[in-house]
Amino acid sequence: MAASKATASGTAASKPAAKSGASGTAVTKTTAPGKAASKTVASRTAAAKTTAPGGAASKTTAPGKAPTKTGAPGTAATKTTAPRTPPTKTPPTESHTALVRRARRIDRELAEIYPYAHPELDFENSFQLLVATVLSAQTTDLRVNQTTPALFAKYPTPEDLAVANPEEVEEILRPTGFFRAKTRSVIGLSKALSEEFGGEVPGRLEDLVKLPGVGRKTAFVVLGNYFGRPGITVDTHFQRLVHRWRWTAEKDPDKIEAAIGGLFPKADWTMLSHHVIFHGRRICHARKPACGACPIAPLCPAYGEGETDPEKAKKLLKYEKGGFPGQRLNPPQAYLDAGGIPAPPLGAG
Ligand code: SF4
Repeated sequence: MAASKATASGTAASKPAAKSGASGTAVTKTTAPGKAASKTVASRTAAAKTTAPGGAASKTTAPGKAPTKTGAPGTAATKTTAPRTPPTKTPPTESHTALVRRARRIDRELAEIYPYAHPELDFENSFQLLVATVLSAQTTDLRVNQTTPALFAKYPTPEDLAVANPEEVEEILRPTGFFRAKTRSVIGLSKALSEEFGGEVPGRLEDLVKLPGVGRKTAFVVLGNYFGRPGITVDTHFQRLVHRWRWTAEKDPDKIEAAIGGLFPKADWTMLSHHVIFHGRRICHARKPACGACPIAPLCPAYGEGETDPEKAKKLLKYEKGGFPGQRLNPPQAYLDAGGIPAPPLGAG
């Protein structure tokens, strides 16, 4: 997928530039031999002028010097010249229209990097998704996925969980942390589902948020991933990344949700959430973002906040132990060929 896009420089001028931030080798591998270098420079320079005002692109694509400053992994020149400067600020003059364009372009790039983005919780029905999402607070999806099979085997329906012995549920949920509060929530929401909704998970936001332990974030996960109703999931990754990208300065999750919702068509909201969260989990970490291995570095105003040395940055890429639990599709091969994220073990998930 990445290969074909990279060669289409005439039709998608934005894409090669973004990919070059991930790895210059991606472009040179996929463009015409002998012309790769010049195309790469041209694309990157164009990106600096048009798509990342004041942002990373300007730091990484100085005309005439671009090949040594692009953050291309694996090159000695990059190692010696990769900037380690504080993140630049998006100019205060960036218009709303320019912000919308930049934000959507980042999402398009993320969609190519993570075409397999999906909720990483395992579930077979709406009840399981709802419970798993409640349990995912303050822990990893992997830990939840290791815990829920025993829970759902013993209590397969809301009616079963509603009358469960709390101590027995606590024992099952202990590995997820905050297990007493989570036990109260899942038993409480199961009672509410049994008594008020006929044992069915409601498909409306206003009903979902009345259930014990269910806030807007959890409700949107269920609405977006089971009922197909678009929603933005503002979790810790989402908050961190939209701030790094200067998409909004809001701090309150509800205000972030409203601000970001205004930048994208409603139909994109659910997948946008997956893309951003996937990127936050794998590359743009809280403490050590892997800027030098980040495919969207040329579009990111916060480039430089993390490790810019490509080789060191590659080592920061994170994956769940044992691969990508629940993953059904592999990353695009061209991206892997270009030195991007490692492939999960065959058969993982
Ligand atoms: S890792 Fe994060 S901060 Fe660094 S360039 Fe990528 S998106 Fe920006």
